Amino acid sequence: MKINKVSVIGAGTMGNGIAHVFAQHGFAVTLIDVQAAQLEKAIATISKNLDRQVAKGSLTEEQKNTTLQNISTQTDIVKGVSLADLVVEAATENTHLKLEIFKQMDAAAPADCILATNTSSISITKIASVTKRPASVIGMHFMNPVPVMKLVEIINGYATSASVTETINELSKQLGKIPCIVNDYPGFIANRILMPMINEAIYSLFEGVAGVEEIDTVMKLGMAHPMGPLQLADFIGLDVCHSILKVLHDGFGNPKYAPCPLLTNMVTAGKLGAKSGEGFYCYTPGSKDLVVSPHFK
Ligand code: NAD
Repeated sequence: MKINKVSVIGAGTMGNGIAHVFAQHGFAVTLIDVQAAQLEKAIATISKNLDRQVAKGSLTEEQKNTTLQNISTQTDIVKGVSLADLVVEAATENTHLKLEIFKQMDAAAPADCILATNTSSISITKIASVTKRPASVIGMHFMNPVPVMKLVEIINGYATSASVTETINELSKQLGKIPCIVNDYPGFIANRILMPMINEAIYSLFEGVAGVEEIDTVMKLGMAHPMGPLQLADFIGLDVCHSILKVLHDGFGNPKYAPCPLLTNMVTAGKLGAKSGEGFYCYTPGSKDLVVSPHFK
């Protein structure tokens, strides 16, 4: 299957990175979000990230301009997917929302269009079940930040066809990524293993075993992780972590996956990590200093 036109639904943390990578590799990208402000912010972020690549010498000024020209924006899903060969959905991690989006996409996208989701944990089989083309529904799970991270976790739903898997596998390589194909069980591989570690780090803080910096330093220096689990949770988004843990908890019915009450409280209080300006650490635009939130001092 030949992919030329790609629509990306959701212009948040992941959507802007996914649009960036496809556009940089010559695909015509339509970036779709219900919030026009998110689209403006996403284009500004992509432009800033491209500037960084130009400054590093990995991209020319001309390639930067072509990449930006390859992206158009749209607030209407129906118009945004009507000509797509592939749609990658990267909207908020919420089952009900994703099912609604997939119903809309299925009705509006061309019959041979592949419908992919960047979900971190929600069942591909469940998402596929609300469409009339379950064989063409697949997980295409990029990692954050998308332009930097090499992995694409490809998730086969119960009905995903071998040719669709092969197309997404080859496409991922074309984007300069390294794909890994896995099966559809809660959290797949990446988050089934990562989220219990993050949750355990939050429990360690909650129970007073150690402070934010101590927990992150032990895991960074002791396990050679590039960042500690609390900083990583802030970077992913605490609301996203909370949603994934709920999917693992519901999916396996095992209490070990229950989100730590501290994580639940922080999400309820709107402390979502880097994107909201505060989580376990505080984030000031333009500053690279890592300052522990006053709440944990
Ligand atoms: P985010 O909160 O940063 O962005 C979500 C975007 O979706 C927002 O801009 C919102 O306006 C938009 N949106 C909501 N409803 C919509 C609709 N009906 N139509 C179009 N747009 C809509 O979220 P994110 O962190 O970018 O996560 C997006 C997806 O990627 C989730 O499924 C998440 O689990 C997954 N993911 C996240 C990470 C991460 O590190 N944040 C990593 C891998 C995968």
